Amino acid sequence: MVGVENDGNAAAFDRAQKVLVGGVNSPVRSFNSVGGVPYFVREAHGAYVTDVEGRAYLDYVQSYGAVILGHADPRVTKAVSDAASLGTTYGAPTLGEVRLAEEIASRVAGVEMVRLTSSGTEATMTAVRLARGHTGRHKIVKFEGCYHGHVDALLTSAGSGAASLGIPATAGVEPSVVADTRVLPYNEPPELDESIAAVIVEPVAANMGLVPPDPGFLEELRRRTSEVGALLIFDEVITGFRLARGGASTFFGITPDLWTFGKVIGGGLPIGAVAGPETIMSTLAPIGPVYQAGTLSGNPVATAAGIAVLDALAEPSYAMLSGRAQQLAEGLQKVISESGLPVQIPRVGPLLGIFFTDTPVRGYREAVASVSRGVYPKFFHAMLRRGIALAPGPYEIMFPGLGHSIDDIERTIDIASAAANEAREAMLSRG
Ligand SMILES: *Cc1c(COP(=O)(O)O)cnc(C)c1O
Repeated sequence: MVGVENDGNAAAFDRAQKVLVGGVNSPVRSFNSVGGVPYFVREAHGAYVTDVEGRAYLDYVQSYGAVILGHADPRVTKAVSDAASLGTTYGAPTLGEVRLAEEIASRVAGVEMVRLTSSGTEATMTAVRLARGHTGRHKIVKFEGCYHGHVDALLTSAGSGAASLGIPATAGVEPSVVADTRVLPYNEPPELDESIAAVIVEPVAANMGLVPPDPGFLEELRRRTSEVGALLIFDEVITGFRLARGGASTFFGITPDLWTFGKVIGGGLPIGAVAGPETIMSTLAPIGPVYQAGTLSGNPVATAAGIAVLDALAEPSYAMLSGRAQQLAEGLQKVISESGLPVQIPRVGPLLGIFFTDTPVRGYREAVASVSRGVYPKFFHAMLRRGIALAPGPYEIMFPGLGHSIDDIERTIDIASAAANEAREAMLSRG
């Protein structure tokens, strides 16, 4: 092939670093925490991504959960091209927005109204503003290691990219902006009082690796927030329509006051949503006093993609997703343990994570302690060299989707066995 060398990943990375900070547009895509040259994606189909050198990888990143049906699902690409051919944005309402909002409300008990945004970050930012505006209170509670997008007030000890890069709270956020944010340990029910506007939580923490809620944790949050009149916000940007047809609130049978969604509901296009009962949602402009807006909010191409995805997700899809994740979790736990590496593969329904440690991880500090052993980068590269793409950071989870076949999962487990042995040897020779 002509020009393969010049157009390979290394050349792309060189070019990228000159014009994009760190060569990326989101730090979680950077290879900084694992080292090496990132693969630049040319195209993706189903469970596979292909890089600019023509190499295919079985992909567990799946755009960090934005893709659930597999890449380039024909139902989604058709919806996108049909919608785009009719115009890509108007600045006037469309029936697509109504349809997507109706779909969300019909799946999630307690959701009556929806405000669409262009990202999950905008959704959590709006939810916090709405909670403060609705309650007239200032303080918010978040949990250590939970990531709620790059909202200033919530970038305090966040997980995901911030944690991978070892920045617990980022430069550029003024102390005054986080002065009303309390950061408390996940899985420990907090003491609350009547100064609290809202408690925001990932019902399954999925940005510090995967940390399931302890039995009773979410129930206790629901009880304690109600007691003091604070709003409970479930940040379901990952769990929404992935954990179950109705997301985490359905899965756990707990109804928060507000929900935030993103990722899955855009079918791979930029989107987010805040949702809740009319009593709270109508505090938003143009009905209520809390301002919120967006030129591209409810974009017709994104809503068409989102509707196509939700239409394709029926009840049996979730049994299938969980089944794949279970197969993968059990296989990984077995073969990695056999290599002699300590490992935990926590799983909740279709979500699974990987920690190289002997003991279950219940919160951020334990997640950091397990990551500090340094096994993940070795395992990551051993997998990547064998054609399996995990996220290039130890705090991300794996996203087996409907594009992954049973054979794909079996192959992953076989390869993980070899990769774990290699990582184990690398750890031993490091001393
Ligand atoms: C990804 C994520 C966000 C932010 O969504 P963006 O679309 O990246 O802005 C918020 N909350 C959670 C739980 C997420 O995983």
